[in-house]
Amino acid sequence: MIEHLVVPDPEAMEEFGVGLGRRLRAGDLVVLTGPLGAGKTTLSRGIGEGLGVRGPISSPTFVLARTHPSLTDGPPLVHVDAYRLGSPAELDDLDLDYEAAVVLVEWGAGMVDGISDSMLEIRIDRAADDTRSVELEGTGPRWAEGVLRSGG
Ligand code: ADP
Ligand code: MG
Repeated sequence: MIEHLVVPDPEAMEEFGVGLGRRLRAGDLVVLTGPLGAGKTTLSRGIGEGLGVRGPISSPTFVLARTHPSLTDGPPLVHVDAYRLGSPAELDDLDLDYEAAVVLVEWGAGMVDGISDSMLEIRIDRAADDTRSVELEGTGPRWAEGVLRSGG
């Protein structure tokens, strides 16, 4: 199922992330794609806040993956910058514990194929009026009902 939304500003992007983050759980794999400046890190920050993990969520530019422990007893958030990974094999080499964490991959398209049969892909595009168009595509039973309809 593919869902669309228009996000008018950075605050709304973060807010969308908070709602999504509240509903994520261990085993979830979320992939963010979109050009530089699209709003991937802004959305990631909201997701971290909604999930309740220790921040700050920033672009993981100097490390390939950063683990943010939960502030409660929820799953940690593993934030991956796949832009610096050359191939899916390198992502595989990170040996991430997908079962125990929420894994969030920026620039992950084409890098995560085959890692999980269930993932949520979020594609962000910048419109001429500087709003963002967000396309959500979930695969597997986990996302069969979509993301937007179940509220949050
Ligand atoms: P990315 O991680 O994709 O490179 P960032 O999350 O760093 O992008 O955001 C880039 C810039 O775009 C930020 O300054 C952010 O405030 C701005 N921005 C403007 N409008 C929006 C919007 N609707 N959603 C998200 N970010 C936006
Ligand atoms: Mg970024």
